Amino acid sequence: MKEPEPPAEPRPTDPESEQEPMQYCPLCSTRLISRKCKLICEKCGYYLSCADYY
Ligand SMILES: [Zn+2]
Repeated sequence: MKEPEPPAEPRPTDPESEQEPMQYCPLCSTRLISRKCKLICEKCGYYLSCADYY
């Protein structure tokens, strides 16, 4: 019997992610993308306006 491999290794700190207020989609855990004054999830269409997360 084989042991299941771990899904994905955690990446080392991404230097680009430190500059933006990155957040993750509460619905599908995809990283939200900054678009002007919104954070958008490209996967499911969820978004936050800046007024919500600021
Ligand atoms: Zn999503």
